[in-house]
Amino acid sequence: MDPKAFYKLSYGLYVVASTLDGKHNGQIANTVFQISAEPATIAVSINKNNLTNTYIKNSKIFSVSILPQTVPLDFIGHFGFKSGRDIDKFQGISFRQGQTGAPILMENSLAYLEAEVIDSLEVETHTVFIGKVVNSEVLGEGDPMTYAYYFQVKSGATPASAPVPVGAGIKQGQTGSKSDSSHLKKYECSTCGYVYDPEIGDPDSGIAPGTPFEDLPDDWVCPLCGVSKSEFYPVAP
Ligand code: FE
Repeated sequence: MDPKAFYKLSYGLYVVASTLDGKHNGQIANTVFQISAEPATIAVSINKNNLTNTYIKNSKIFSVSILPQTVPLDFIGHFGFKSGRDIDKFQGISFRQGQTGAPILMENSLAYLEAEVIDSLEVETHTVFIGKVVNSEVLGEGDPMTYAYYFQVKSGATPASAPVPVGAGIKQGQTGSKSDSSHLKKYECSTCGYVYDPEIGDPDSGIAPGTPFEDLPDDWVCPLCGVSKSEFYPVAP
């Protein structure tokens, strides 16, 4: 089996959220797809260890917010690399409760779907939840974030609980171009796998393309998971 074959699959990037006993939680997911049109049904695959899985299983509702290409990395990091067991992920986030009660993002979202769970399937490490869509709305214009764009342009990383293997997309992102900064070393975050690419910089944090890792300010932190510079190590070119 060639694991690289899996990297050729296409995905989007979403925040899937739910509400249980008055508490909200959500996470980044790449596996949302429509099953049928009449009635409208969708499916999402969620790791069994994630709090969102427990919420959806018990409340039988979930929302899907569709992220735009312009979504900042730290927003993805907030929903993708932190656990709702440690923090309230919706604190400080602009959202409202939909008609199911599930939280709906009012920032960094192009559109949302709300669904009631009508079936589910336990598959090894993940649960596939099948939902009947009860509400949907377009919130903004722009291109939706795709998984490929996230890795290639944003130097993204994948938590270990994702359906795709850790590091899968990082390799996709390391396609060499021949600009002046192509000789500069890339550095990888030992906590989350984010790769700092000097050619890209970290525009969300005001770091211009072409900035060597060594020249990053001392208070610069991983845009995905928030650890300091000292947690990074150089990766082979
Ligand atoms: Fe990190």
